[in-house]
Amino acid sequence: MSGAPNIYDVVIVGGGPAGASAAIHLSKHGARVLLAEQKRFPREKLCGEFISPECLEHFERLGVMQRMIEAGGAGLTETVFYSRSGKCVSVPSDWFGSAGACALGLSRAEMDARLLERAREAGAFVLEEATSSGLLMKAGRVCGVRLKQNGGSREFSSLITIDATGRSRQLARRVEREEGSGRSAIIRRAPLVAFKAHLENARGDSRHCEIYFYRHGYGGLSRVENGLSNLCFIASARDVRECGGDAERVMREVVMKNRRASETLRESRVHSEWLAVALEGFGRRRVVPAGGLLAVGDAASFIDPFTGSGMLMALESGELAAQSVMRHLPTLRSNGSFDELAREYRARYDQAFKNRLRVCALMRRAAFVPRFAETLILALKASSRARKRLARSTRKS
Ligand SMILES: Cc1cc2nc3c(=O)[nH]c(=O)nc-3n(C[C@H](O)[C@H](O)[C@H](O)COP(=O)(O)OP(=O)(O)OC[C@H]3O[C@@H](n4cnc5c(N)ncnc54)[C@H](O)[C@@H]3O)c2cc1C
Repeated sequence: MSGAPNIYDVVIVGGGPAGASAAIHLSKHGARVLLAEQKRFPREKLCGEFISPECLEHFERLGVMQRMIEAGGAGLTETVFYSRSGKCVSVPSDWFGSAGACALGLSRAEMDARLLERAREAGAFVLEEATSSGLLMKAGRVCGVRLKQNGGSREFSSLITIDATGRSRQLARRVEREEGSGRSAIIRRAPLVAFKAHLENARGDSRHCEIYFYRHGYGGLSRVENGLSNLCFIASARDVRECGGDAERVMREVVMKNRRASETLRESRVHSEWLAVALEGFGRRRVVPAGGLLAVGDAASFIDPFTGSGMLMALESGELAAQSVMRHLPTLRSNGSFDELAREYRARYDQAFKNRLRVCALMRRAAFVPRFAETLILALKASSRARKRLARSTRKS
């Protein structure tokens, strides 16, 4: 931290896809950017690791396409949704991209490290193992952050600060705590728990992402690099407690109640540590939590994972925030006015994401009720047109 300047146009906290996307776009256009990430990369991350085809268009614009291909991930031609009894319906990846487009199965360890490396190359000052420990405030407005690294602490000022800390929304929550509006969200018990591990010898089709529905949850299996498969699933906190919190037991006793999962996972062996996180809920948050502060990625909205579009929203909202900031940077530098930027970012965010968040909230209800999921799968199987329409409505508005 000692070599880093004190003053920036933009300080971004969180080096996942949303923070890295914002940092790369801003730096490429000449903004002075600090990107602070609490972990050292590469690091494992709980995620389905299904990178939807539209993300590849972002990789092109971000200048990371070649290095993502070199990481050796798997091309995924379709996503197949399996009801508990084994009925299935498929969504080809090229419905979300150009003809023949594939999704990419690649670990977050590989993907995120490559994006962070690119942010550094593009000119952002990147600090790893640096955790935000407070916000700098001036006249009720956020004007920078306090970061902790190696036992030391330092303040960094900025015209704009971006919360890219994912679902934990570290910066937005600090603001809400001060306003007294975040308390109920903090003490509410999380109803769902998500798990993830890399597996050897899983029997799923190596070109498919397979989604399994079961009571109170669903899980996804898809191939990543080195011939491994990523299994990521969500279960109710109650089922997890009944399995003593043991991820492998949850896999065998809950996930494998799905007929297809019981075939594909029967002979599998866990290759990595299990990761687990509690999920408090889904949906939209405040995209401008305070004056001077914007939220991107999961810190702004957490879209249902079965859509496989969280990373897309992260890359997209990072780009959108960067575009809005760049347009207003001259004004910010001259008179510090934030209101126009806030208005523009909110409006463009709504335009890009409001509909898809609404559609996904409706689909979530079906996903968690096995009989409804079964009926929906049968109905969608009958009409490829309806399937395509519904699949696309989880993406662009
Ligand atoms: C079960 C599950 C499965 C999913 N599967 C998929 C999928 O298959 N495909 C898909 O597209 N999306 C999927 N998602 C969603 C996807 O993981 C997220 O949408 C995406 O990671 C959001 O990116 P982000 O950059 O906003 O946040 P994150 O990726 O969470 O990154 C936030 C970063 O901020 C850092 N950070 C946090 N607090 C601080 C702090 N105080 N100081 C400094 N740094 C900090 C973290 O270490 C982290 O690196 C899934 C999500 C879940 C829960």
